[in-house]
Parts: sequence; structure tokens; C-alpha cells
Amino acid sequence: MRVGWLRSLTAMMLCGLLPLSLLPAPAAHAQGAAADMKKTFAERKVLFDKVGTLTGIPWYYLAAIDQYERTIGLAKKRPIGGKNVSIYFSELQWCGMMNPDHADQNVTSISLFNGLGRDGSGDGLADRNNDEDILYSMASLLLKNGSVNEDLRIGLWNYYQNTRSVQRVEQFAKLYSQFDTLELHEHTFVMPLKSDYTYRSTWGASRGWGGYRIHEGTDIFAGYGVPVRSAAFGVVEVMGWNPYGGWRVGIRDLNNVYHYFAHLSGFSKGLKEGDIVKPGQIIGRVGSSGYGKPGTSGKFPPHLHYGLYRDNGLSDWSFDPYPHLKKWEREERRRGKS
Ligand SMILES: [Zn+2]
Repeated sequence: MRVGWLRSLTAMMLCGLLPLSLLPAPAAHAQGAAADMKKTFAERKVLFDKVGTLTGIPWYYLAAIDQYERTIGLAKKRPIGGKNVSIYFSELQWCGMMNPDHADQNVTSISLFNGLGRDGSGDGLADRNNDEDILYSMASLLLKNGSVNEDLRIGLWNYYQNTRSVQRVEQFAKLYSQFDTLELHEHTFVMPLKSDYTYRSTWGASRGWGGYRIHEGTDIFAGYGVPVRSAAFGVVEVMGWNPYGGWRVGIRDLNNVYHYFAHLSGFSKGLKEGDIVKPGQIIGRVGSSGYGKPGTSGKFPPHLHYGLYRDNGLSDWSFDPYPHLKKWEREERRRGKS
């Protein structure tokens, strides 16, 4: 129990989902945690490959569902059923709504009551806390209406009844499939470290333009044309003009965090919605666009407005990027020296 708790805590820290005050500062601790995380990723990959082979669903699709559920579970402070897998089924989902035995593990009675629980491990039990059973149950439910060759998207939509969820899973699957690994959690600072920039903690301050909204981001001041870089592995979710943000890019990462880059002078050549980006990849340049109709520029000094939003399944909510920027800057500096 205790070991499992520590493992998930380590996992959360590495994915940047815990407050920074809980992060161990010394590099040695970070290395130990990184080794633990590598082991967890390796164990998860074995599970995805196994159930993937069993069901014909590509491993990266199963990985994407698991990762999506992990981020939603953390956002909703939901209990974690499995050891390495975070897909969540409630007791009643698992055993069936009318099943009098809420802890039922009997495959026959569960299916009689239309429960979702299945036995993927082959021990004859449908165990809600067993990783293989959980993953196999999710796979079975996606395949309920047809084969893998038919659209998995339909199965996902039927389950979540929410287009946002389907979009997230597809974004994550695209990332895992492209890089063929689960280890996509490295971050970089949003501008080259050698460039001339300054920033302070400005999240939550009141703002002059755009009505009664708090300042949902950190302003990083730099000259026109300084490169703006993606902080994470992610998918370009939104790109174009917005009256407040000017030329802006929104990138979704694997922690289900939306990175919002605003007031750019322009985008990197060829970059478009749906593209995959890596940490450190240049996506645009610092500018002063925004606060008006398309093309409006120069109403304020050039800077990057950088916002972070977490998805809780229904909407995105803003959190303070400042401590994360500081951390990524520090980590990148440390990597550069080693
Ligand atoms: Zn701003």
C-alpha cells in the first residue's frame, strides 16, 4: 500500500502535477525519482503491448486513454484503481448497476448485470484493482460495437459522451505513436536561455483591458523577434488571431495542460493546427500583437503572455505558470552544464 502510494506520488511529481513545494530540491533525489519513473513507464509499456496484442488495439491508443484518465483523475482527486494504470471504473460501472454485490469479481454474474468488468489477466477473476483486468475491460468496451478497423473514436464517444475527451485521447495517441515511447515529459524554458528576457510573477493580477478578468498568465518581456519555444511535447490545438491575445498558439501536452502563447509577431513557417511539437521547438516570435482587430500591434511593449490551463474534463482552468517557468529554466540550465 505504502509503496504504491509513493510510486504514484513520484509519478505525479515527474509529470509536474504536484505543487512545487512538494518537489525534492536536490538533484540526487530528482535522479532517483527519474529512475523510478523510467521503471514505471517500462512496466506500463509491457501492459499496453500485452493487451494491445490481445485485442488488436494499438498500444499507443491504450496508453492515450490511460494517460487521459490519469490527468482527469488527478484533476478530480479521484481514487486510483490500478497499480500502473489509471483508468477509472466506479464499483457500479464495474459490477453492473443492479448487481447487489458491489465487490463482485465473478465474470459470469458481472456480465449478467451488464457490468464492464472483464478478466484480462487470465486468473478467472474480474478484479477492479488489477491493471490487466482494467485495461482489458476498457479495450473490450471500445470493441463492443465492432472491430478495431471500425473507428475507435465511436467507442470512445459512446463511453465518454464528450467530444473533448475524444479529442484528448486522439492527441495523446498521436504523440505516443509518433515518438513510440511513453517518456515524453521533459520540459524546456519558453525562450532560448541565452536570449535577453525578464519576467516576474504576474498571475492573478487585475488587468486593464478586457473587463473583469484576472491576469491568467506570466508576461515575459523580450525584444521583437526573440524565438518563442514550446515548453513540452504536445499537439498544436489552436492557432491564429484572437482579439485579446493577438497572434496566438495553444499547445496541449500529455499532462492535459494547455499552453497558451500570446502577442506573437508571427508563427514558425509551416506550423499548423494538429502538428506535433517538441520541447524547445520554435513555434513563433515575440511581438506585441493583440487588443484589437486582426493585425493590431504595438499597443503595449513586446512580450510573451504565457498561460497554463488544466483540463478537468469539462473545462480548462488557469493556474500560475511562474513556478513552472522557474523550474524549467533551472532544469534546462542544469542539463546544459552536465
Ligand atoms: Zn499577459
